[in-house]
Order: sequence, then structure tokens, then C-alpha cells
Amino acid sequence: MITPLRIAIQKSGRLQEDSLKLLKESGLHFSNGKDQLKTQARNFPIELLFLRDDDIPQYVEDQVADAGIVGENVLIEKQKKNELVKRLDFAKCRLSIAVPRSENYTGISYLQGKNIATSYPVIVQQFLDKHGIQAGIHEISGSVEIAPGIGLADAICDIVSTGSTLLSNGLKEVETVIQSEAVLIATPNLPSDKKQILDKLIFRINAVQSAKNNKYILLNCPNEAIEKITSVIPGMKSPTIMPLSRTGWSSLHSVVDENDFWEKIDLLKSFGAEGILVIPIEKMIA
Ligand code: ATP
Ligand code: ZN
Repeated sequence: MITPLRIAIQKSGRLQEDSLKLLKESGLHFSNGKDQLKTQARNFPIELLFLRDDDIPQYVEDQVADAGIVGENVLIEKQKKNELVKRLDFAKCRLSIAVPRSENYTGISYLQGKNIATSYPVIVQQFLDKHGIQAGIHEISGSVEIAPGIGLADAICDIVSTGSTLLSNGLKEVETVIQSEAVLIATPNLPSDKKQILDKLIFRINAVQSAKNNKYILLNCPNEAIEKITSVIPGMKSPTIMPLSRTGWSSLHSVVDENDFWEKIDLLKSFGAEGILVIPIEKMIA
């Protein structure tokens, strides 16, 4: 009997859905009962614990959970014995300082002697120390953005993704304190059986992530263009090339990075590529 790896994920909130989605895309099947405290994957030695995100670093330090998924912001704030194992590319946001829109903000020295409301006192203190600023930190657990309006603080430090909450509270973003995304964390020095399970999971997550960042591409081209086209889309090892029944033409299959996709398409067309098809990839293992 293998001891399952216990992974803590958020019970409800912004991280929950994408955490479950990533694990499912990694091939894990769960009986998805809502309001459960924990659930065991049917086909993989992994057990999920559903917890408040703020509590996850502590549970991982105490080895009640072996691993967890939290925002990097929570990981840094909690200062627990957690190892950052992998960035997960979702729940991207930043922690920023904001001040009332009417203020004439000229730079960080503006914050000297001011009061900052935040749910992230550790991160704010680190930021102030780095810039040699002395300011008061007023810790509040929610609705931070109303603090200046009710006279509780001069500035705030909170999570921003689009900035619309700041705007509707009469605030403007003036400093980015940290960038954050969801991360997989684990207790340092996992026993080797659990480490093996974690490594298998990481391998699968890598396959899911590379698939998302790449597309499968098929095109027809005159044979003279094959060399030039291959230099643009070399693929994983090299492209697959098959002759078309029309003499002098080939079909070329390869993989293209999502990020410079459109520039490459333009280039391929200029080399004579026709009938270009682009298809999503589900998993990609190099
Ligand atoms: P809990 O009840 O578990 O304590 P919470 O209210 O603290 O939940 P959520 O609002 O669900 O937390 O946010 C969880 C994490 O998602 C945050 O710590 C942050 O990393 C990320 N996050 C928060 N807001 C956003 C946003 N607007 N865009 C992207 N990611 C975000
Ligand atoms: Zn929380």
C-alpha cells in the first residue's frame, strides 16, 4: 500500500477551480463532492485536502499536507518552511501600493511617515525596508481598499489584477510591490516515496504547460521552401515532411511556440507556405 501524497488546495475562492483543473489535466480523477474536507484520486496516489489558502503554508510546514497550491503572495507573507516547487501560470496578480487619486504622488518618499493599510504586513515591511522608508502598517483582513476613504490609512497595499476596484474607490496604483501567481509548494525533504509521487506530478504538469504554450502546425509548401520553413519552425526534433501527390510539393508538420506564433505565420507565408492548419496540443512531452 503506497502512502498517498497529500496536497492542500483552496476550499473555495479564486485558486480552487484552476487548481482542480490543472490536476485533472494532469490525468488525476477525483470524485468531486463539494463540501468535502478531503478526497482521494481514483487513479493516482494523491489525496487532496481542502483548506483556506492562508492556512496552507502552515499545514505544509507541519507536514499535515506534503504539498499545496497557494498564491506566491501568501507563500511570501507567511514565511513558513515551504519549498517553492513550481510556478503554475494562473492566478496572476500583483500586490501594489495605492493612494487617493487626488494626491500628488511624486515617488516612494511620499510614503515616509504615512499609514498603510494591508492584509500583507510582512511583504509591505520588506518593501519599506528595501527602500529605507519608515511608515506605519495597519493590518486589516478584508476590504482594504476602503481604508483611505474612511480615514483609516493614507495608502493601501493590496492585490490588483485589472485595477477597477481601485478606480471605483477613488484610488490610484503607484508602486508594484510584488508580482504573484499560483505556485506548487512542498515541505522540504519529503520522504523518498512521496518525493517520487511529487516528481511524477511535476512531470505531468510540465507536459500540460508546454502543450498550452505550443501549437501543432501543418502546412503545404513547395519543396524548395522546406529548408527555410524548417529554420522557422524546427519543431521538437525536426519537422515531419511528407510528399504531396502534386509533384514538387510537400506537407510539413511541426510545433510552434504560442508567443511568436503570428510573426512566424507571416514569415511562413512569405516563404510560400499554403493551407496552414494550427491545432491545439493536449499534452507535450519533450
Ligand atoms: P480564503 O477564503 O481561502 O482565505 P481569500 O479570500 O483569501 O480566500 P481569494 O480572493 O480566493 O482569497 O484569492 C486567493 C489567491 O488568488 C490570492 O492570494 C492571490 O494569489 C490570487 N488572486 C486574488 N485576487 C486575484 C485577482 N483579482 N486576479 C488574479 N489572482 C488573484
Ligand atoms: Zn485567504
